Amino acid sequence: MTRSKQAPTTTDAGIPVESDEHSLTVGPGGPILLQDAYLIEQMAQFNRERIPERQPHAKGSGAFGRFEVTNDVSRYTKAALFQPGTMTELSIRFSTVAGERGSPDTWRDPRGFAIKFYTSEGNYDMVGNNTPVFFVKDPMKFQHFIRSQKRRADNNLRDHDMQWDFWTLSPESAHQVTWLMGDRGIPRTWRHMNGYTSHTYMWINEAGEEVWVKYHFKTDQGIQFFTQHEADQMAAVDTDYHMRDLFEHIRDGDYPSWTLYVQVMPFDDAKTYRFNPFDLTKVWPHGDYPLIEVGRMTLDRNPTDNHTEIEQLAFQPNNLVPGIGPSPDRMLLARLFSYADAHRARLGANYQQIPVNAPVVPVHSYSKDGAMRINKVSDPVYAPNSYGGPAADVQRYGQVPSWYTDGDIMRTAYVDHAEDDDWGQPGTLVREVLDDAARERLVDNVVGHLLNSVSEPVLERAFEYWRNIDKSIGERIEAGVRAKAGEKDPKAAEQANPARESMRAKT
Ligand code: NDP
Repeated sequence: MTRSKQAPTTTDAGIPVESDEHSLTVGPGGPILLQDAYLIEQMAQFNRERIPERQPHAKGSGAFGRFEVTNDVSRYTKAALFQPGTMTELSIRFSTVAGERGSPDTWRDPRGFAIKFYTSEGNYDMVGNNTPVFFVKDPMKFQHFIRSQKRRADNNLRDHDMQWDFWTLSPESAHQVTWLMGDRGIPRTWRHMNGYTSHTYMWINEAGEEVWVKYHFKTDQGIQFFTQHEADQMAAVDTDYHMRDLFEHIRDGDYPSWTLYVQVMPFDDAKTYRFNPFDLTKVWPHGDYPLIEVGRMTLDRNPTDNHTEIEQLAFQPNNLVPGIGPSPDRMLLARLFSYADAHRARLGANYQQIPVNAPVVPVHSYSKDGAMRINKVSDPVYAPNSYGGPAADVQRYGQVPSWYTDGDIMRTAYVDHAEDDDWGQPGTLVREVLDDAARERLVDNVVGHLLNSVSEPVLERAFEYWRNIDKSIGERIEAGVRAKAGEKDPKAAEQANPARESMRAKT
C-alpha cells in the first residue's frame, strides 16, 4: 500500500510493483520464484551500478552555476560566452588526482578544476587544476607519471619511493612538486582554492587577430589551506570533507564564487619571450603579463543525482568554441585527444547525449548509431548532399586557429628560451613568494614525505633536486631527514651517512 502523496513504485518499464519488501515465494517459508521479475530487475541492476572510475581524477564532486562577464574583453576574443553582459550556465567538477573514488579528500595532491560552459555556440570545456603548472611537459611521460603516483604492481600500495624516483629523474617536475609540497598542496576546501587553465590557449577576435591567453579563476572566499597534520586528522574523521563542504554551503545558500582573470600575450611575443610560453611547467610572471578581469563564476545548485550529473559529467578540452583555440603546448594537444577517448571508453560512444553533457543548442552532427544512442538520426546521413542536410557555414566559421610551423619530423625536447630551466621558477617561488613560516612548512612536508620508505639512492637524488631549487632549502631538507631518520633508527642513520659521503666524494 502506498502512503498518501507518494508515487507508486514501478519497474523500469513503468509497471506498478506489488511490494517494496517481499519477494515472491511459495508460501512464507518456501523458495523464491524466478518469475519475480521485479526482484530480478533490482538484483541485476544493482550488479551493474558501478561504472569504471576515472583514471586519474577518480575522487571528486561538483555543482552547477553561471558565469557572468563583468569586463569587455571583446578586443581579444569573439567567443560568445566572453562578450560583455553575457551570462552562461555551467557545470563544474573538483577532484583529487591520484586517489581512488573512496580516497580521502584531504590527501596532498593537485585538485582538478574542470568547467563545462553551456554556451550559445556549443559546449566549451576548460579542464583546469588548482595549480598553474604541471609535473611534465611532454604527453609521452604523462601515463608514466600517473602510474608512479598510484599503486605498485606487487603489493598494490602507494609508494613514496616510486613517486620521488619519477620526480627526481624528471627535473621538469620541480616547479609543480615545490608548489604541491607547500601550503597550496592541501586546500582547506574546494571553495578556498584558485583554478587555472595551466595550459596556454589562443583567443581570436572578430577581426581574426590572435593572442595567447592563460586563465586564472581566483577564489572570492580567499585562499585557505590545511597543514599536513590538520589534513591527516581530517582524513581520519571525514574522508569526504571537501565534497560535504561544497554541498552544504550551496544547500544553505552560501554560494561560492571565483573571479576570472586572463593573462594576454601578443601573438608575436611567443617567439622571443624569456620563457617558452607553451611549456606547462612554467608560469608567465604577473609582472610581464598582468591579470585582466573577465567575469565571475558563481555556484548555486547542487546535483540531485551525483551519478548522472557528476560521475557521468564528461569534460574534454577539445570542446573549443569559435574565438578560442589551442596552442602549441604539447600536453594540451595530447589532451585534446585523450579526454574524449577516455569518455568513450568509460561512458560509451554516445556519452555526449547524456543530459549533463548535452549542449543547450541544437546538435546537427553526422554522427550515427552506436550503443545507447538517444538522439534520432535522419536522412541524409552523409555530406555533401542535395537533400537539405546540415552544411558547414564556412563563411562564418571557416577561420581555423592557426600558427606557422615548419621543420623535420623528430622526437626531441622543446627548444629552450633565454631563461628556461627547470629550477628557476620553483626557486623564485621558494625565495620570493613564500614567507619564513611557509618555507618552514614546506621543509617539514618534504621531510615527512621523504621519511616514508624512500630508498637511499632516491633520497640522495631528492636532496640534490631540492638543492637545485634552492641551496638552503635543500640543505634543511637533508638535515631534517637525517635527523629524523636517526631518531627513528640510529643504526640505519649511521650506516646511511658514510654511504652518502662516499657518493658525494665520487661526484
Ligand atoms: P607574483 O609575486 O606576481 O605572484 C606570485 C603568486 O604566487 C601570487 O600571486 C599567488 O598566485 C601565488 N602564491 C602565493 N602563495 C603561494 C604558495 N604558497 N604556493 C604557490 N603559489 C603561491 O610573482 P610572479 O608572477 O613573478 O611569480 C613568481 C612565482 O610565483 C612563480 O615562479 C610561481 O612559482 C608562482 N606563481 C605564479 C603565478 C603566475 O601565474 N604568475 C601563479 C601562481 C604562482 P595567485 O594569486 O594565483 O594565487
